[in-house]
Amino acid sequence: MPNSGALKLFKLLGADGRSYDSPKRGAFGGHRGTKVYGLMTCKTAARYVAAGTYQKNRVFFADEAIAITAGYRPCGSCMPGRAADDARA
Ligand SMILES: [Zn+2]
Repeated sequence: MPNSGALKLFKLLGADGRSYDSPKRGAFGGHRGTKVYGLMTCKTAARYVAAGTYQKNRVFFADEAIAITAGYRPCGSCMPGRAADDARA
């Protein structure tokens, strides 16, 4: 994989809940306040981002296992069947 020189780093959250710089973009997004993680394409998250209330609490994870270990739970709207409390879906 060619490296274009300008290395772009992404802020990701690790399993220990601390952020670190990664050369790879996160696969999942999360909210620091609600402790929910979901797909990057999540419509619910996109709505909050659009409203401008999400950005400062926005975190990213390299994979799901890290998100779960960090204490986050799956989003009920973009990850149906994954949320433990999915009964109200
Ligand atoms: Zn979602």
